[in-house]
Amino acid sequence: MSEVIERQIDRSHMQVSDEVAIQISQMNKWYGSFHVLRDINMTVHKGERIVICGPSGSGKSTLIRCINRLEEHQSGQIVVDGIELTSDLKNIDKVRSEVGMVFQHFNLFPHLTILENCTLAPIWVRKTPRKEAEEVAMHYLKKVKIPEQAYKYPGQLSGGQQQRVAIARSLCMKPRIMLFDEPTSALDPEMIKEVLDTMIELAEEGMTMLCVTHEMGFAQAVANRVIFMDQGQIVEQNEPGEFFRNPKSERTKLFLSQIL
Ligand code: ADP
Ligand code: MG
Repeated sequence: MSEVIERQIDRSHMQVSDEVAIQISQMNKWYGSFHVLRDINMTVHKGERIVICGPSGSGKSTLIRCINRLEEHQSGQIVVDGIELTSDLKNIDKVRSEVGMVFQHFNLFPHLTILENCTLAPIWVRKTPRKEAEEVAMHYLKKVKIPEQAYKYPGQLSGGQQQRVAIARSLCMKPRIMLFDEPTSALDPEMIKEVLDTMIELAEEGMTMLCVTHEMGFAQAVANRVIFMDQGQIVEQNEPGEFFRNPKSERTKLFLSQIL
C-alpha cells in the first residue's frame, strides 16, 4: 500500500500544537437547492496533517474551497487563524494570504515562466521588490528540486514538475496552512512519488496541511488524522492506524474495500 513512500520520515517537527488553525462549526453549504455540505464541525490544530477521503461527489473539494472562500458557505462559521470568513473582503484577503492551495490541475499561468509564476503574487499582492521575490522563488524552486527549470514555461515541464512548481508558488507567499485538492490524481504513476515526496518534506517541517487524496500510503505515513466524507457529511475520523485497521461505519468499510 505504501510503495510510493520509500523514504524514512522524520516526525520530529510534526508536532500538533494546542493552538487552533481552523475552526469550522455547524457549517452548511448549498449549490442552489442542492445541500452539498451538512453540519460540518471540524477543528484543525497547528501542525496537523489531515487527509480527507471519500467517494467522488461527497463534497471534499467544496469543503477545502470553503476554507479559503473560493466557495461561500451559507450557515455556520469558518474561522481561519482567528479570522472569521464572512463577506468582508478584508478578512478574505487576510485568510487567502495565510492559506496556500494546490489543485489537481496545477493551474499555472501558461504564458509566464516558472520564475514569473512564482513571483507574480509576491510582487503584485505582497509588494515584495522583484529581486527579493526572485530570490525567494529560487529558494523554493530549489526546495522542490527544479531550480534549473526557472526560465522555462509550464508547457515544457512534466506534470510532476508542474505540480512541484505549483507547490513552490504557494510557498512563496509564506502560507501558514496548505490545502491540497487531489494533487497527484492527474499525474502518471511515475510522477506521483516526486510530488508526494515534496509534500512529505513540508509535513516534516511542521506545516499544517489538509490534503484531499486517495493516496492511502501517504495517509498512513504522514497524516495524524484521516477524515472520511460521504454525501456532504463527515462520517468518520480517526488516526490512520485505527482508521484503516478498524473502520467503524459501513460506508467507510465499503469505500476502503473499493480503493485499497
Ligand atoms: P468531491 O470533491 O468530493 O468529488 P465536490 O465538492 O466537487 O465533491 O462536489 C460535491 C457535489 O457538489 C457534487 O455532487 C457536485 O456535482 C456538486 N457541485 C460541485 N461544484 C458545484 C457547483 N459549482 N455547482 C453545483 N454543484 C456543484
Ligand atoms: Mg474533488
